[in-house]
Formats: sequence, C-alpha cells, structure tokens
Amino acid sequence: MLQKTSPYMRQANLIGGEWVQADSGATIDVVNPATRLKIGTVPKAGRAETRRAIEAADAAFVTWKKTSVLERHKLLRKLHDAIMDNQQTLAELLTMEQGKSLTEAKGEVAISAAYILWFAEEGRRTYGDVVPSPWADRRVLVTKEPTGVVAAITPWNFPSSMLARKIGPALAAGCTAVVKPASQTPYSGLAWGALAEEAGFPKGVINIVTGSAGEIGDEICANPLVKKITFTGSTEVGKILLQKAASTVKKVSMELGGNAPFLVFDDADVKRAVEGAIVAKYRNSGQTCVCTNRFFVQAGIYDEFVEKFAEATAKLKVGPGLEEGTQQGPLIDMRAVEKVEELVGDATARGGKVVTGGRRHALGGSFYEPTVIAEATPSMRFMREEIFGPVAPVFRFETEEEAIRLANDTEYGLACYFYTGDLGRAFRVMEGLKYGMVGVNEGLITTVEAPFGGVKESGLGREGGHQGIDDYLDTKYVCIGGLGL
Ligand code: ADP
Repeated sequence: MLQKTSPYMRQANLIGGEWVQADSGATIDVVNPATRLKIGTVPKAGRAETRRAIEAADAAFVTWKKTSVLERHKLLRKLHDAIMDNQQTLAELLTMEQGKSLTEAKGEVAISAAYILWFAEEGRRTYGDVVPSPWADRRVLVTKEPTGVVAAITPWNFPSSMLARKIGPALAAGCTAVVKPASQTPYSGLAWGALAEEAGFPKGVINIVTGSAGEIGDEICANPLVKKITFTGSTEVGKILLQKAASTVKKVSMELGGNAPFLVFDDADVKRAVEGAIVAKYRNSGQTCVCTNRFFVQAGIYDEFVEKFAEATAKLKVGPGLEEGTQQGPLIDMRAVEKVEELVGDATARGGKVVTGGRRHALGGSFYEPTVIAEATPSMRFMREEIFGPVAPVFRFETEEEAIRLANDTEYGLACYFYTGDLGRAFRVMEGLKYGMVGVNEGLITTVEAPFGGVKESGLGREGGHQGIDDYLDTKYVCIGGLGL
C-alpha cells in the first residue's frame, strides 16, 4: 500500500513544529476517488487548534522576519530541491487523493517547485524607493516589510500548486503561515510540512491544520494575529471570508470561480483551436477554475470545429490516474458527477445535442465520459454556472460583437481564450474581453512568471509574476528629518 511507503504522507497536523492530532481525537477519512477506498485519516481540528497554530506562526514571525533575504532564498531553494527530488512520490500521493493522471500530477508537483524557486528569486527583489525629498533637510524612504502571519486556504483541485503560490511568496517575503488544505486532498498540503522540515525551515514558520472548514475559517478571520488571508476556492466561500475578514480589516487575496469562454473565429486555424480546446477543457477532467466553460464558435466554421473537437474528445483515455496512459481521471466525488449530470440534462431538455459522451463512464464511481454538446444556447445553465467537469457546450455566433458580448455576459472574469488568424481582430477582441487572463491562440497559459488572477467576482490580487509577492508586503514610508543638511 502506497500510504505505508510514502514518506510524505502525514496523518497529523503541524503546529509549532509538532505533528499533532485534534484535541478531541476526531478524524476525517480521506478517500481515493478512483477506487472509493479509504486512504487514511487526518485530524478534524477546530478553533482551538487553529488558534494555537496562529500563535505559533506569530511567535515564529518575530525571528523569521529578521532573517536576511539571502537566508530565506537558500531555504526556499532547498525546499524546491526537496520537491523535485521526490517528484514521483509526491505525484503518486497527489493522484491517489485527487484522481488526476500521474502525468498531470507530476506536472503539478513540478510547477509547485517552480513557484517556490520563482519566489525565492523574487524575494531578493522586493525593492523600496528613495524618493527625491521636497525638503532640504529631510530624506524620504519607502521600504517593504513582511505583512505578518498569513492564513492560506486551498481547494482540492490543485492541492499542491495552489499552496506553492501562497507559501512561496509568504515565506520569501518574511511572513509565517497557517495553512488549511481541503479535506478531500489534505495529504499534498501536509506534505509541505514534511518538505519544509527537511529543507530546514524553523519550527512554527509553516503550520498546517485540517478539519472543520467553517470553524478553522472563523478563527482565521476573527484572530487579530492573522494579517492576511489568501484563499483559492469558490466565489461563494470567498464572499463569506471577505465579510468575516472585514471585522479585523485583514489584507485579502481571492482566487475565485471562473466561467471561461473559448472563442473560435472563422479565420482561426481549426486544428490548433481543437488542440487548445482539448487542453483548455479537459485538464484535470475539467476541474480547474480556468477550464473552458463555454465554447463560442463562429457559424462558418461551427460544424467543422464540432466534428473535429468531438473526434479528439472521444479519443481521450479515461481511467484511474495511476494507470499507465490515463489522460482523464475520475471526478472528485459523486456530488460532482450529479452536478454534471444535472447540467447535461438541462442542456438536452433545452435542445442541446450530445455529440460524444453524455453519460457516466462504464468504469463506474465518479468517472464521467468526456462530453461535447452542440447547439448550446444562452438559456442553458452552462451559460451561468461553473461545470467543473468534462463537459464542453458549444454555442454558435455570427459576429465579433456578439461573441464579445456573450463572452462577457457573466459575473466572472478569470481566464478566457480565443482563436483567430487576424491581427486586428486579435487586438480588438483581447481589449474587449473583461478578464484577468487571455490566451490568444493558446489554451494553456499558466506559468510562474506571469500574474494569475481574475477581475469582477473572480477575485482580488495576483499570484505568480513579480506581482505575486506584493500582497505579502506592507509599504512603509519613512521621513528622516533634522539632518542639519
Ligand atoms: P470547492 O467548491 O472547490 O470545494 P470551496 O470554496 O468550497 O470550493 O472550498 C475551498 C476551500 O475552502 C477548502 O479548503 C474548503 O474546506 C474551504 N472552505 C469551505 N467553506 C469554508 C468556510 N466557511 N470558511 C473557510 N474555509 C472554507
């Protein structure tokens, strides 16, 4: 059994450098979505444990904030190396709890390491300013200081890399962290604790609690020692956290839901658009916030696109993530399957045509067939709701203006994609789309060097890029007077 051999699987919480159980001894079962078998348990912690984790982070902050950027840089590089030295083991653990193919899991582990390395480097470039002074005898400085204790709450779809984007900049900036991974996929998050210990981070710099989301969230929001909350998850929970964090005026970054459109114009390279569509739709079985939710295809090219896209979709190999050659794993749980079924039912009742897929997969459990639905219309629930599954509704449009209007007709604004061979159109559409990230003739655009994040109800703040560390730093203006100059 993998759980016996994986050195990074921890069935305990990390608080102040100690691996501990919940005060009550209560636990949560963790299940492998491919087999539906229990992998192990994690502590079901609540407010008291979270408070202790926050206090441990606050105590560690006193010394951690004083370490030099070079010292932090070196530790983060060690953390990067520890991740990459164990890429296979960590990927197996990730697949086992999350379901995605081992190839994708290895990719996620590698990008986690890449975020750590990126922020190890960015930490050395958190420049302030020396401002030309309006006074002859005073000098004006602007410095950057670590914000303090950061609380990070992460989802189950990228249990490793979503934490890397938060832990990386927090630690590089000189902050300490309290982390709450999702209950479905806690082991990849807890593994960060073991990796950090191995890299030599001091006790209390990273603390990890698992358990009751509401209780942990309430303590994080109410505790004045927490200076910043960084959250990735649903818009619904993001709004709750924003409201609760208001009571202590914390800094917040929110990576929330998406409703990504994917536009294909008549002048597009169809082969390239289909390749982009496959990756933009089916990565992680459609369970990412940047996965395409709505395909809009221009009338002149519609039939050709649908045929080729459905052909490529039907070829995707569905299976347990750990099995060689698997491209599509199971959905996270049965609730996710039921949601997908509901949306497909709604679409077919409103005239949508299933071109391929459209059913639970013969493998059973939470496996669902990669699905293309033609003749989608704005009255279908796909138009407004995040699918978070391997279903691709394809809408038809006539004009560029109509495409932009439909694409923007959502409260979300995370990622969008479009395909065209016309340079003028590329700029018009890029400027017309109200989104935080745009892929032009590209369906997979996330990279550590670029700022990831949304506008509208998709969130606040950016992760990655040089912008990704800003949210973990406070700006301090210092006026030095009486210099007798
Ligand atoms: P998803 O739909 O992807 O599960 P959620 O927003 O429900 O997204 O969950 C994302 C993360 O937020 C998870 O770690 C989850 O446990 C946590 N979470 C859910 N509800 C709350 C809450 N009320 N307060 C704090 N965290 C929460």
